[in-house]
Amino acid sequence: MNIRTRVLVSAALAVAATFCCGVLLWIGASRSVAADAEQERVQAASRAIAGLVTLTNEYALHSEPRAAEQWQRQHEALVLTLSAPVQSGESSAARLALRTSIGELRALFRGLTELTAQAAAPLTQRRRDLLVDQLLARTQALTDAAYRWSREAASAEQAARHGLRIGGAGALLLLLGAALAQPIVVWRRVLRPLAGLERAAAAVERGDLTARCASTARDELGRVARRFDAMTLALGERSAALHHSEQRLRAIADNLPALITQVDAGEHYTFVNDYIERGFGVHRDAITGKSMREICGARQYAEYAPHIRAALQGQQTAFETRLVVRGALRHFHSNYIPELGNAGEVRGFYAISFDVTERKESEMRQAASEQRLRMIADNLPVLIAYIDSGQRYRYSNATYEKWFGVQAEPLEGRLVVDTVGAELYAPHRPFIERALAGERVESEQLVPLPGGARHLHALYVPHQENGVTLGLYSLITDVTEIRRSEAELMRLARIDSLTGLPNRRQFDERLVEAMARSRRTRAPLALVFLDIDHFKSINDSLGHAAGDAVLKEFARRLKSTVRATDTVARLAGDEFVIILDPIHADADAEHVARKITLAVRADFPIGGNTLKVTTSIGVALFPGDTTSSGELMARADTALYEAKSAGRDGYSLARSTRHLARVV
Ligand code: GH3
Ligand code: MG
Repeated sequence: MNIRTRVLVSAALAVAATFCCGVLLWIGASRSVAADAEQERVQAASRAIAGLVTLTNEYALHSEPRAAEQWQRQHEALVLTLSAPVQSGESSAARLALRTSIGELRALFRGLTELTAQAAAPLTQRRRDLLVDQLLARTQALTDAAYRWSREAASAEQAARHGLRIGGAGALLLLLGAALAQPIVVWRRVLRPLAGLERAAAAVERGDLTARCASTARDELGRVARRFDAMTLALGERSAALHHSEQRLRAIADNLPALITQVDAGEHYTFVNDYIERGFGVHRDAITGKSMREICGARQYAEYAPHIRAALQGQQTAFETRLVVRGALRHFHSNYIPELGNAGEVRGFYAISFDVTERKESEMRQAASEQRLRMIADNLPVLIAYIDSGQRYRYSNATYEKWFGVQAEPLEGRLVVDTVGAELYAPHRPFIERALAGERVESEQLVPLPGGARHLHALYVPHQENGVTLGLYSLITDVTEIRRSEAELMRLARIDSLTGLPNRRQFDERLVEAMARSRRTRAPLALVFLDIDHFKSINDSLGHAAGDAVLKEFARRLKSTVRATDTVARLAGDEFVIILDPIHADADAEHVARKITLAVRADFPIGGNTLKVTTSIGVALFPGDTTSSGELMARADTALYEAKSAGRDGYSLARSTRHLARVV
């Protein structure tokens, strides 16, 4: 049964018991009061009866009217006493008898008074005496009846008093029972379960989530106790889950490669992860509970102070700092993240610091490397640049400034065309566009620069990522000097250094060109092949230097003998060739051969000596039987051989029919 019902029932019982007690007491009291009143009436009646007896005797003796009147009043008082309403059934019988008797008594006394008023005749006297006797007897009988009434009233009073005592005791017991039952009920059903609940609550407060009330009662407190047990069970489960979750979080936090701390609003460390031991060799207990100022020291704290203030004002902040850890300088990247309460108030902050030393050192190494590369690039005599897909410079070395007179920095973001000018840009544009299309291209152009025209070699290498060309690397080299050297080398490679005449290479080129031209113009040409006679003997007798001097003089005479349009070349040793281009007739060739023979025969003044030098000449004509330069050379060589065989110092003309000529 519910406590509420129980309390209502017990309250109702108490009210009922109290009501019963009241009723019993009221009945007992009423009876007692009625008994007392009856007693008083009995006494009054007894006194009245005694007075009637006395007054009857007195009237009988003296017949005084006063006595009669007193008797009448006494009788009326008695009637009045007896006529009071009956309250006790027990005394009513005697009273009724009395009431009946006094009615008869009145009639007898009236008869007496009437007889007394008549003449004092003996018969009347006798009747009067008889009436007096009857009156006295009846009055005496009234006394007996009054006595019985008195006894009855006394016993009724006793019964009423006994009933009152019994009722009072019963009511007292009932009230006592009700008064005792309530505390028992309250103790058993309320106080005892409440004490159990309080014990369990205190155990939970101490952290013992296994505490249970284990109540089986079906009332409100039983239900509260079972709810409490269910709540502590759920709390225990949640606490276990929370504990597991906290352990997981701690395991994660402890194994993260970062120093994680929790700081309260008073700037005291409330949590430090395991990294403090791994990274700093300090036990976390040495940090937990201490203030940041105490742990960090004044200098470090002053550095952190603005970030601490910001975090405690609810702002997330990040900064880099340096710390000496185990004697080595380490770089840290720190984040302060405010910790907010349910109402949005700042309860502290989390500080997460990553050791970025390796990255920082790598960045510094990279920066130094970049610095070195930039210094090298800036001092290279080449234009190095990175141009994006919009043809804007994103990087350029200092050579741009030297060559174009522009500052390196403002070049960033400028268009190539705006920087180098439309004239210079135009020839480079196709190459730049091809490179931006993903092709590695090279170009070389003669470019007009402020200091004069220069040969610039441009290499454009596309910068591609995932198949997309993002820009190009441009490397422009001034190859003017190289080209000049190359040209000189080329020139030197095609000239005989001793005589200054074209050498075999140049001769070969010119012969091919001349033959082509001859074919085109149909103008014939002649190839004259010369070899100094007995040249070895000059070397042998006068020395190699004299031989060289002869070769130079020989070359000069050849050049002076032929036209400027003719080509005189030295093939090797004492072998020379002349391309007579053009000739009008075969006779022209023979004429030249003759002139040369004569020119060579003139004395060679060499080193104080006068030498006699002769030459043999073979002449081949084109067009003729030959089609290639090689064949033409072979024919001229054959003709020369024939001239030698014929005794030297003459020429031989290679024709379809052999012709040997001796110059006279
Ligand atoms: P031949 O009449 O048959 O032509 O007889 P030769 O002595 O002239 O013989 P040849 O033409 O075969 O000899 C050429 C010589 O020229 C051989 C070599 O020692 C000499 N010689 C080749 N080149 C040079 C040179 O540059 N300077 C000098 N001084 N001598 C050279
Ligand atoms: Mg020779």
